[in-house]
Amino acid sequence: MGRYRIGLGTDTHRLLEGRPLVLGGIQIEHDKGLAGHSDADVVLHAVIDAILGASGLPDIGELFPDTDPAYQNADSRNLLREVMGQVSQRGLVVGNLDLVIHAEAPKLSPHKRTIAHSIAGLLDIGSDRVSVKAKTEEGLGTIGTGDAMACTAVVLLTDR
Ligand code: MG
Repeated sequence: MGRYRIGLGTDTHRLLEGRPLVLGGIQIEHDKGLAGHSDADVVLHAVIDAILGASGLPDIGELFPDTDPAYQNADSRNLLREVMGQVSQRGLVVGNLDLVIHAEAPKLSPHKRTIAHSIAGLLDIGSDRVSVKAKTEEGLGTIGTGDAMACTAVVLLTDR
């Protein structure tokens, strides 16, 4: 019987003025962007941690420390590509990926399909295997006031 390995990842970043907003490798027009050591792509960070968890590899903070100047303003797509190299070496592929972006603004429904395509391309799978959902927090908490965004991702890895 083939292997089935499930993984969960979450991430949160602050929203600040003067930063680009990058979600799932796509730049989205907004008056604020996510703050962080890298490009702060909260979606790809959650996806990476889900994949690392399913693979039994160390987490994103251990692999790409935010104290390491090498990852300053890093393009998170490259981090995901690096992780996928390690996953592939272990004979595993992504079966499917399901994720929820928690954000009050901007409206993400027009971007969900583009984000899914972007992530599917990075994982080298069909975009029908990537599900992107977006939820507001009804004005509550730091996400609800537009001061932060978060992402939750679940992934299934299977034998190649
Ligand atoms: Mg992060």
